[in-house]
Amino acid sequence: MAIISSKKQPQEPERPKQQKSDRPVPLESDLLQPQAAPDEQGKQEQSIRPQSFADYIGQKDLKDVLDIAIKAAKARGETLDHLLLYGPPGLGKTTMALILASYMGVNCKITSAPALERPRDIMGLLVSLKPGDILFIDEIHRLSRMTEEILYPAMEDYRLDITIGKGTSAKTRSIPLPKYTLVGATTRFGALSSPLRDRFGSIQRLRFYEPEELSLIILRTAALLQTPITEDGALEIARRSRGTPRIANRLLKRVRDYTEVKATGTITQNVAAEALELFQVDPCGLDWTDRQMLGVMIEQFGGGPVGIETMAAATGEDVQTIEEVYEPYLMQIGYLQRTPRGRVATPAAYKHLGFNPPNQQLSIKYEV
Ligand code: ADP
Repeated sequence: MAIISSKKQPQEPERPKQQKSDRPVPLESDLLQPQAAPDEQGKQEQSIRPQSFADYIGQKDLKDVLDIAIKAAKARGETLDHLLLYGPPGLGKTTMALILASYMGVNCKITSAPALERPRDIMGLLVSLKPGDILFIDEIHRLSRMTEEILYPAMEDYRLDITIGKGTSAKTRSIPLPKYTLVGATTRFGALSSPLRDRFGSIQRLRFYEPEELSLIILRTAALLQTPITEDGALEIARRSRGTPRIANRLLKRVRDYTEVKATGTITQNVAAEALELFQVDPCGLDWTDRQMLGVMIEQFGGGPVGIETMAAATGEDVQTIEEVYEPYLMQIGYLQRTPRGRVATPAAYKHLGFNPPNQQLSIKYEV
């Protein structure tokens, strides 16, 4: 529940000139979703996925740490330590697991926690691993308790414990597993149980990308897709991509379609801006839900603090999606702050939505 101080009433912000837009049709709002769309898992997607550290743009700290880990493991003839990658969707966790496998010269088996519902799902995967293989489990915070408990000895001692029978006559048999590397990916580090977290030798965070980095990713993808684009054009798309390579590549493809149909063939800054306006992609990459959340905070709660449940009710999104998908980007670009009493909209958010920031209102009142 939102708490509003009884001592100080929130100031009524000046209304923006522009009308609040209606929720766009689903196609357009999906453009800025960081999760992979069904058509983004095919061959074309694989062809633009980086295959080496040189192609994997940004995340320098992560690459440096993993580069050392690979060299050390190879020199000792060992497997890599279990690795946990965390960060919002679309930042390159799966891609990094595949690159690691390629440097280590091993296979990478990809699965996700919701596909490991029954104990036999994870057991089947574990026994199929070859020495050194990488097992990538996406959304690892969603593993069932039973699957997690099978993983503990499998991670620590490379051993699969199988219980045969029930009650007092139950017996446990252990099957040795080859040494392998588990790469877990999660968008919610805090939701992982500590016994699972403690079994990872290395825990690495992926950060949102800067527009300049995204711009390089867009230029690389455009070259692979044989799409002419200027550097300004790439930067225009990058600025609207929510710091996320998956969104950057998706917007590039939509702008490419627009350019082929409406313009001269080369994606320039103007063409990119025109196309993205048409698709209702905000110049900072905000979508309807971001704007709605910030709008409610400003218009109804004087900029906050506002409780997360209130924001969920206002937007129709669930609390988890707001925490994992929307808030991290809004905080990254400095539009939202988390405080112990709730979420607060910053002056930059006021300006972006066309409201006067609170300090400007004060000075206007003072002058009057
Ligand atoms: P995640 O597993 O974190 O959801 P993915 O690894 O599937 O994200 O990345 C989504 C897409 O974004 C990939 O297909 C890849 O083309 C692109 N991508 C991700 N990270 C990078 C990067 N650092 N450089 C270039 N492209 C990237």
